[in-house]
Order: sequence, then C-alpha cells, then structure tokens
Amino acid sequence: MNRPAHALNPAANPRNALNFSGGPGVLPAAVLQQVQESIASVPGVGLSILGISHRSDWFAAVVAELEDNIRSLLGLPADYHVLFLQGGATQQFSMLPMALLAGRKHAADYLHTGYWSGKALPEASRVGPVRVAWSGAAEGFRRLPTDDELHFDADAPYLHYVSNETVEGLQFHRMLGRDDVPRICDMSSDFLSAPGDYSRFDMIYAHAQKNIGPAGVTVVVLRDALLKAAPDNLPGFLDYRAQIAAHSILNTPPVFAIYVVLLVTRWLRDQVGGLAAMDRLNRAKAALLYQTLDSSDGFYKGHAAVADRSLMNAVFRLETPCLEAEFLGAAQAAGFSGLGGHRSIGGIRASLYNGLGLDAVEKLVEFMDGFRQKHR
Ligand SMILES: *Cc1c(COP(=O)(O)O)cnc(C)c1O
Repeated sequence: MNRPAHALNPAANPRNALNFSGGPGVLPAAVLQQVQESIASVPGVGLSILGISHRSDWFAAVVAELEDNIRSLLGLPADYHVLFLQGGATQQFSMLPMALLAGRKHAADYLHTGYWSGKALPEASRVGPVRVAWSGAAEGFRRLPTDDELHFDADAPYLHYVSNETVEGLQFHRMLGRDDVPRICDMSSDFLSAPGDYSRFDMIYAHAQKNIGPAGVTVVVLRDALLKAAPDNLPGFLDYRAQIAAHSILNTPPVFAIYVVLLVTRWLRDQVGGLAAMDRLNRAKAALLYQTLDSSDGFYKGHAAVADRSLMNAVFRLETPCLEAEFLGAAQAAGFSGLGGHRSIGGIRASLYNGLGLDAVEKLVEFMDGFRQKHR
C-alpha cells in the first residue's frame, strides 16, 4: 500500500500547513507529531492516549500542569481557578448567567458586536435581566464602539463582551469596562494569542478549537470571589463550584482534548517563547495580509473598520459572489483550505491562529496578488 509520507509525519503535510479554517483551526505541526505518537503510546505511560483512565495519577498530573501553564501564560494570581469544561463556549453562554444573573434585579451589561456576542445575549436573557450597552447590528457589525459610545452601569452584576468577533473579524485592541464591575470575556478565538493584563478580568472563557487545541474542551478561568453569591440550586454539572471541587474531573472529561491543549501550552512556552513572541508572530502575519488588501486598489475589500481589524480573522470580499467563488476554487486548487467566509456572511475569511505559520501567509498573499493580476 502506498501511503503519502505525511501519513506518518504530520509535519510533512503541505496541505495542513495551509489550513486557514475559522475553526476547528490548524494546530502546530510539532504538536501534531506528538499527538500522533500519543495515539500509539504516551511517553512514560505506554498506553494510547485514547485509553488512559481519567482517574489515573498521570491524568491528574496533566490537569495540574495545564492549570499551571495557563495561569503562568496569562499571569494570573493563585485566587483564579482554571477549569476544563465541556459544552463549548455555547454552554458558557448559559452557565455563566445561571451562576451570576439568576434572581438579580440589576441587568448585566452585554455588548452586541457581532455573530458570537449575539448568540450569548438571548441565552443570558432567558436567565435574568440584560442591558445591551452597545450594538453594531444596524451598521452590519463593521466596527466596534469607541469609548465615547460606551457607558457601563456601576450596578451591573457583570459586563460581558467578546474580545474577538471570529465571524466579522473585529477585535478589541483595548480593555473595556469598569474595575468595580466584574469583567467577563469570551476569548474563544484569540485566547493565548498575545500578552495582556488578564488579572483585570474576573472570568475568561475560551473553547480550545480555534487557537489552542481540538474541539471538546473549553477553558474557563475565574476569580474565586466571583462565585460568592451564586445560587445553591444549580445542576451539579453546571455549577462552577462543583467543577472546581472536582478539578475538572466531575465526570469523564475529554482526556484527549485536554492532553492536546497541554501540548499546545508547552509548545507556546518552549518553542514559541511565550505570549509576547506569539503576539509578534501573529502581528507579522496579520500585517502582511492586511497590507495585501490595502494595496489591492479595492480588488479585495476588508469587512472590518481598519482600527478594529482582528489579528486572528481577516474577513474580506471581492467585487461579486461569482468572483469570490472563483477565488475560493482557485485557492483550493493551489492547496489552501478553509478560506470560505462564515455561512452567516459569506465572502472570504483567512484565519491566522497561533498554529498557522508566517510562511503560509506569505504563500497566501502571493496567491492573492497573482489572482488579482489575472482579474484586474
Ligand atoms: C466559535 C465561537 C463560539 C462557539 O463555540 P462552540 O464551542 O462551538 O460552542 C463562541 N464564541 C466565539 C467568540 C467563537 O469564535
């Protein structure tokens, strides 16, 4: 049987290196290589990662190391819990208001800046009062609010926003909110992409499958004091305190996904050199792509206002849907994957997550320049 070389070596899979998918996103080849080995046998254990008990000492150590790695990458003090939960970011849309909003008189402040913050809103409204502090819906989610447009309620139980709107390619390049109101952020698509003042957030959640691992696990970091008034009648599985007490092993957790996230955090720390180095690389990738849009004489039209452009997801359009289809077909034939825009808005989206190399973006912009020359 003739198998391609990369069947045994993910690092040599040229198509995977050009995967610009919005999610699940590309993972670093060095991590995929270790994942592949772990399917056969985890070093030091001698069992497949797919068959190791979540009650083993080995897995308890995996969880403990991953908690530490995330705390240290984010610079969080010891009063933050780090949880590995199931149900994706979508479950956090409900789990969070169940703990912090149920039975409250004052509304929580929510920003409506795009597709994903728009999914969080109705879930919170089902549980308690919500105020939309700003909405970009009328303008088609092409920009984020300025400070002058934002007035946060001092009595709100919390502020919720999405740091990076994955679908529209909009990213906040500053911190929002007031320091006397708990600040809660969905960072699913830019988690661990850059350094920041993360201890000013009371809670951050991010599923793994955009930037830090496979689908199946969601990282939640939260300050212990945040839960002091949480109701006592929550279902155990949906109660952060029960998950904290169990160190994320309340029931059978996604052992494989958690292990891959551990490998990604080791890679971030040891191979990349930490979040500042990751940020430099992410900025270089985004600069190259946006420069290509900006120097295309309007052939490629960016969706997001320049000041709010995402470093993670570059969303753009061509003159007609027909030309976009031709672009996507040619890109596919040239070895690129995952460039189709989200089904809700169409167009093109190039996702530049941590695992994507600068060389992949260099190849993409070369392809884009060539396509433009042919069609101008
Ligand atoms: C993809 C995405 C989600 C949805 O996550 P699921 O894990 O599929 O529930 C939520 N928020 C943001 C910012 C996302 O990018």
